[in-house]
Amino acid sequence: MSQITGTTKILGVIGNPIAHSLSPVIHNAAIAHLGLDCVYVAFPVAPADLATALAGFAAIDLIGCSVTIPHKQAIMPLLTEISPLAKAVGAVNTVWNTDTGWHGTNTDVAGFISPLAAISRNWTNTTAVILGNGGAARAVVAGCHQLGCGKIQIVGRTAAKLAEFKQSWQDIQLATNNSQIPIPVEFQVYEWDKLSMLITTEDLLLINTTPIGMHPHTENSPVSVEIMQGLRSGSIVYDLIYTPSPTKFLELAIERGAIAIDGTEMLVNQGAVAFELWLTKSAPVARMRKALRDRLQSE
Ligand code: NAP
Repeated sequence: MSQITGTTKILGVIGNPIAHSLSPVIHNAAIAHLGLDCVYVAFPVAPADLATALAGFAAIDLIGCSVTIPHKQAIMPLLTEISPLAKAVGAVNTVWNTDTGWHGTNTDVAGFISPLAAISRNWTNTTAVILGNGGAARAVVAGCHQLGCGKIQIVGRTAAKLAEFKQSWQDIQLATNNSQIPIPVEFQVYEWDKLSMLITTEDLLLINTTPIGMHPHTENSPVSVEIMQGLRSGSIVYDLIYTPSPTKFLELAIERGAIAIDGTEMLVNQGAVAFELWLTKSAPVARMRKALRDRLQSE
């Protein structure tokens, strides 16, 4: 955006708190690069105000917005259409305004897959080991399934939550035959004491979806130095964390000869997919990535 005028269209992100969001940096860099008459704004919206905010956004013809914590589930009953993928993940992170109401989807799945799809690999032979079973892990499971990973193994610390996580995917399978909905085929859950065995798998894709190692606890890693010794060279190791970049976990993986991917890729690419949905234009991904990395380095 070079100048805000009477015709400037609005995009944004809703969350609470939202001041820390990096989405305005990423999207406004893309808007400026393409010279669009748009602006992307962070809106703090308290949980009790979500429906009012959405109605107000429709009234002022806002194009669409990103949705973050704590609204990713709460917004779902307020939408007139939700993509099958977002239903399976159980969270919406992108909405847009239509003549028939608000539509929503989940672009975290595509954002997660994006850097993996650029790697040439036989995904059928790949075992995805996912550390953590929270919200982000659901998008990662859907992504691994879309990639075609032969096995998906979840590692969690709370047996009851692990069992619930597994059951939730089985419930989706029972509820629908819709082929667009990702349903893991070989799907197992484990507690952390099995990690030393799981990590030695050939054709491994190891993903951290826990916050372990995130700033300011940068010396922590979800996998210890000792257990990391079992990692095979050529494994792909992906950390969803983007501060710091690389994390201790990725540094250890690189020492073992792994291909390392950091969380900035998922963050940029989920934003790029949302940008394309809202504006029906190719997102300048390289520009968005540079804006994000520049901002992270300046912090
Ligand atoms: P979440 O819903 O709170 O889930 C966190 C998971 O990590 C839970 O399964 C939790 O276990 C587990 N966990 C937390 N601390 C742990 C510990 N000390 N030891 C073992 N397990 C632990 O959070 P989320 O929304 O999934 O986000 C997780 C991470 O992903 C965050 O760092 C977030 O910044 C990152 N993320 C990045 C992107 C991106 O675009 N790059 C997108 C989304 C999320 P319990 O369930 O047993 O508590």
